[in-house]
Amino acid sequence: MKVGGLADVAGALPKALMDLPASVTGSYQLDVRLCIPFYSQIDLNSYEFVTDVEVRKGNKRVKVVCYKTHVGRIIVYLLRSKQISKQKTVYSADVQKDGDNFILFSLAALELLKHLDWPPEILHANDWHTAIAIHKLARLKDLDPFYSHTRSVLTIHNLPFMGAGVENLLQEYGLPASNEKRLPEWARAVPLPMGLAAADKIVAVSKTYAKELGSENKSCGLSSFFKSKNTSLTGIVNGIDTDIWDPLNDYLITQKYDVCSLSKKNINKVSIIEEYGLDPDPTAPLLVYIGRMDRQKGVDLIPAALSALTTHLWNSIILGSGDPELEAFCRELEIDHPLKIKFLNVFDSALSHRLYAAGDILLMPSRYEPCGLSQLIAMRYGCIPVAADTGGLHDTILHVKGKSAGTGFLFSPTSAPAFTSAINTALKIYQSPKIWRNIQLKAMCTDYSWKRSAQSYFSIYRALVEKGLS
Ligand code: ADP
Repeated sequence: MKVGGLADVAGALPKALMDLPASVTGSYQLDVRLCIPFYSQIDLNSYEFVTDVEVRKGNKRVKVVCYKTHVGRIIVYLLRSKQISKQKTVYSADVQKDGDNFILFSLAALELLKHLDWPPEILHANDWHTAIAIHKLARLKDLDPFYSHTRSVLTIHNLPFMGAGVENLLQEYGLPASNEKRLPEWARAVPLPMGLAAADKIVAVSKTYAKELGSENKSCGLSSFFKSKNTSLTGIVNGIDTDIWDPLNDYLITQKYDVCSLSKKNINKVSIIEEYGLDPDPTAPLLVYIGRMDRQKGVDLIPAALSALTTHLWNSIILGSGDPELEAFCRELEIDHPLKIKFLNVFDSALSHRLYAAGDILLMPSRYEPCGLSQLIAMRYGCIPVAADTGGLHDTILHVKGKSAGTGFLFSPTSAPAFTSAINTALKIYQSPKIWRNIQLKAMCTDYSWKRSAQSYFSIYRALVEKGLS
């Protein structure tokens, strides 16, 4: 089940942690387990029943059935309830439905630990959907010695999504509001802030995003809370799974390539532009956008920016789904320029691999971007990002300055004119194949793996465990 970057993280971080060498982990032996909802679309050949758990909701008890499977060396627990298995998508537009599913999931996960008789030293939750597990853990610690040694880490992937509007459900599940005085009143019965207040450590998915959380305009009203939590807030950039995202071993792309055979990358472009009936000139640049259709991503700036280019409109492919208004915007652009623009209104992982391999330039005009994975994947495929200078984009893209090779083009502010100007600069450099190739080589040779970030997470876990022991 994948909607965006969180799925990449859930798949890759546990694996990277388990792969940490003994020189990093020392006397610690990691046993990382992943717990996810068992959506009906998850297609598994083998999984086994573990146990049933019950979660109290009002005067009812809701049954959740727990299964397990293995992905490599990771044990994955899959939690199924009647309501979760009915869900056709990971997120819905209905706050109540999502609230109900994710609160139930979070509480059931804590119950499962007890049934397993496996008290983890660290509970690591992500975003509002699992923040309630941390809030509840903090309460259980005083009531049940089983949970008293478990420390908590909450990673923020996207702060504006807080899970607001579920006060009634919190009451039904017997969850009192947070009593953290540093939280503004409105936030005390909202899942993400409730988890943030209770967490032993808060991680933002890049250093710049961690800083931005303390600023007025990107903190969604929690700037003073974050400032007060300064010592327990840190930034760790996400990585990508370099086994899955590897142009030399990617069976989903037309032609495999690497830095030593970079000229073969073009075969992927030729195949795509032919397939979608775009301008067949193989030397012309191909611009791609791969991401959710969301105002956060600045998709609405793409039509204006492309139409204002100083040269002319180049082949561009937009892959994404989400906000119907933005989808309509992109559809219109395609209708206006059928030979130049292709809008692929689907979520299709296999197709995204082909586009990263085919693209010369990745468009990423995000209004804010906690970390961003699309730019990391694109750089690994030699597809050079033109991206807004914000959050994780600032931390992961080395801006091309003058003649010194960078790995992409950053612009600010996030506006159509600034975006156009950055695309113009990239297109100009694209006309100098030698310089462009250097940028591609630098981008492709940069390490975007989870190795370093997994080490940083490990250091946090270890510090929390050792603090608990002292
Ligand atoms: P976010 O998590 O905010 O959506 P990221 O850049 O962190 O953004 O991660 C997006 C991930 O989802 C990338 O792996 C990207 O390739 C993938 N993705 C986004 N939209 C699509 C789509 N329509 N089809 C296939 N993959 C997509």
